[in-house]
Amino acid sequence: MMKSSLNEILSFNESFVKFKQYEPYITSKFPDKKSVILTCMDTRLVELLPKAMNMRNGDVKIVKSAGAQVSHPFGAIMRSLLVAVYELKADEVYVIGHHDCGMSAIDPELMIHHMIERGVNEDIINTVKFSGIDLVEWLRGFGDVSTSVLKSVDLIRNHPLMPNGTPVHGLIMDPNTGKLDLLSDGNEYLTKNNLIDTTKIEQ
Ligand code: ZN
Repeated sequence: MMKSSLNEILSFNESFVKFKQYEPYITSKFPDKKSVILTCMDTRLVELLPKAMNMRNGDVKIVKSAGAQVSHPFGAIMRSLLVAVYELKADEVYVIGHHDCGMSAIDPELMIHHMIERGVNEDIINTVKFSGIDLVEWLRGFGDVSTSVLKSVDLIRNHPLMPNGTPVHGLIMDPNTGKLDLLSDGNEYLTKNNLIDTTKIEQ
């Protein structure tokens, strides 16, 4: 039988709730630090990223995707960022990629091969391809993490539904030490391009 962590998780969860271990984490759904972070699903960043940025429960919204990529301007990731900004009081967007990212090593052709090996019928792969979905392009990762982060930053900054004057920052994290390198400062970008939102009153 396949080993699943489900039962382990459920029994841990029962005692977690019973002994009120949630108490230190009680907060609201609005981010205290008024930011939303888009980062990678990499396991090394699960605890490291918030710790290395001094973020605690309740401080920020975190959206995750493989490679911290926004692959589609009208997909779920972009929607999450817009919801965070419009409805959940996030005023700044951080896109944080990381070195040694799994998405930089993805070979789409090989992954499709793995799908077939795992039992996905080749006809289905072909049907998907013929229905106008560029499967290879959709699965493709990136060669260079900086380029990828800047591409996502650019897409978010220029998104037609993103409110004017929202700073969008691009950074890269070292997945071992948590060190951040700044690629693009969103405030600098707004100032340089005269995009500061004048409709917003300083609070
Ligand atoms: Zn990654």
